Amino acid sequence: MASCNNLKTKMNTAESNKYAVEQFADLQILRYYVPGFDELSLKQKELVYYLSQAALEGRDILFDQNGAYNLTIRKLLEEIYINYQGDKKNNEYLALETYLKRVWFSNGIHHHYGSEKFVPGFTQDFFSKEILKLSPSQLPLIGDQTPNELLEAILPIIFDPAVMPKRVNQADGADLVQTSACNYYSGVSQEEVEAFYAKKKAIKDPMPVSYGLNSRLVKENGELVEKVWKVGGLYSAAIEKIVYWLKKAEGVAENNEQQAVINSLIAFYETGDLKTFDDYSILWLKDVNSRIDFVNGFIETYGDPLGMRASWESLVNFKDVEATRRTELISDNAQWFEHNSPVDAQYKKEEVKGVTAKVITAAILAGDLYPATAIGINLPNANWIRAQHGSKSVTIGNVTDAYNKAAHGNGFKEEFVYSNEEKTLLEKYGDITGNLHTDLHECLGHGSGKLLSGVDPDALKAYGATIEEARADLFGLYYIADAKLVELGLVPNEEAYKAEYYSFMMNGLMTQLVRIEPGANIEESHMRNRQLIARWALQAGAADKVVEMVQKEGKTFVVINDYQKLRTLFGELLKEIQHIKSTGDFDKARAIVEQYAINVDPVLHTEVLERYKKLNLSPYKGFVNPVYTAVQNADGEIIDVEVSYTEGYAEQMLRYSREHGNLPYYNE
Ligand code: ZN
Repeated sequence: MASCNNLKTKMNTAESNKYAVEQFADLQILRYYVPGFDELSLKQKELVYYLSQAALEGRDILFDQNGAYNLTIRKLLEEIYINYQGDKKNNEYLALETYLKRVWFSNGIHHHYGSEKFVPGFTQDFFSKEILKLSPSQLPLIGDQTPNELLEAILPIIFDPAVMPKRVNQADGADLVQTSACNYYSGVSQEEVEAFYAKKKAIKDPMPVSYGLNSRLVKENGELVEKVWKVGGLYSAAIEKIVYWLKKAEGVAENNEQQAVINSLIAFYETGDLKTFDDYSILWLKDVNSRIDFVNGFIETYGDPLGMRASWESLVNFKDVEATRRTELISDNAQWFEHNSPVDAQYKKEEVKGVTAKVITAAILAGDLYPATAIGINLPNANWIRAQHGSKSVTIGNVTDAYNKAAHGNGFKEEFVYSNEEKTLLEKYGDITGNLHTDLHECLGHGSGKLLSGVDPDALKAYGATIEEARADLFGLYYIADAKLVELGLVPNEEAYKAEYYSFMMNGLMTQLVRIEPGANIEESHMRNRQLIARWALQAGAADKVVEMVQKEGKTFVVINDYQKLRTLFGELLKEIQHIKSTGDFDKARAIVEQYAINVDPVLHTEVLERYKKLNLSPYKGFVNPVYTAVQNADGEIIDVEVSYTEGYAEQMLRYSREHGNLPYYNE
């Protein structure tokens, strides 16, 4: 059985080190491998190579999207880092090195997950002195700006906690546009933005474009104007390079369908036309026969407080044929799952279309998928395309594998899991059911259900992402305990699901708090979703003690007393969440998210952080990419593409800045 050959084995230290690169701040850098690359044909390798180059060329776009000063700050830090002549054991220097590594990791000066601005561990004085030692030609000066003027502009951005404190502000009641440091809007208020798009959306279109997806909205002479990211528009210098490599890729496409996909993406980058983007998305969705696949563009909108503008990202991959049998089984039964879900009949899809799913091997991660990456992706995002054409869903097998292998034997379970019974469950079934939950979330969860006609897909506004993730997670949680999965051979027996229930509840109620700074609340929508589900279930099952938080030797643990009852609760919550989504009930969405998802119990939080600290682990992880080298013959033809896994983290980041630093330091 394809799904059951990844039972946990104890990893020895040497094997774990193969995956672990380095650790700093709250981050660990891992390395992933690309099994199967050498078995690809030369033409396929060439295609991967060109698409990988196209992926790396967009790096600067994301830095600029995340904040208007990020490219300047990155340049300043890198110049100090490269040219520093002093004692490299000096605390100020070490703190600057850590800060730079964090800036690389976050593609900017705000935390990649919590979105709060980093607090530098070095002084203004140290930073200023080092900058002034550099020659003006090494500095990102604009026009006739002097080094001192540059410093004056940049110091508050780095050091003043009141300046640009959050990349994405989602606090209820604030002007989310003006209080967010991301670079998607300039000189406009939230009200103005909403009015601008309300007017566009008032013209009813059954195939509405994703308004605002690929532009910055600015005010010019009192008028709101979209500055479009395209060839000849904003970010042109990077987009031209992307297009250059895409054209090479088009020449070695595996088949006509794939060629058409690449061609329409080029057309989108050249015109910035969002209808063309939808055409491209549909072609991409329907290309299911190619072995190689890729995402390259403005895709996810988590970085915009209003959820409209998309950050740039890229992923190049090829299908893992063996592991894909698992997700195909799920997809083939999509209609059965939809029919039998606990959701109200009126919110179910009569016909679940085109839920395709595969396990992929990532060949390169870039933009908003680098160094921190998703492990599952379901695209496209446009609701009408999903409704009419379905969606393509992937889980990234080699990345998940790297996470799992790096985590074995790190002491986490020993600290937080209640008893040997749960530990054994996790040892036996943790990896299988973890992967399976991701598959169910991506292949079925996001693709299930429907909006009632006339409901605005953006009706839930800032709460929409949390509700959507909760919906997908609950769909997976409900079904992972279903006898159907045993019947399909996806889980080995009827108790395996308990491993995922336990780790989900432990994570949602407790251990994900290791990612939150003391005193802060939960901001990120996937984390909000997990706490929402876990706390809701804890409370809903309190009378029957379905789940409990117990004390043992002065420590808090999660205990699940009745797994079947917990499944019933997940079903009830799924029904409620789908109702909120389908009817676009903003007030209900706000109420449930505000009640369960956001606030942190400060006492429990402190305890969890203290216990976690002793383990010396990093709550967040990211990856270095492999390096692809095209081997050419005397005529300049590519005769092979070699892959290597030796590049270090700083080495890779500096090389990317050198080789793919495509944009000006300020982009207006
Ligand atoms: Zn999701």
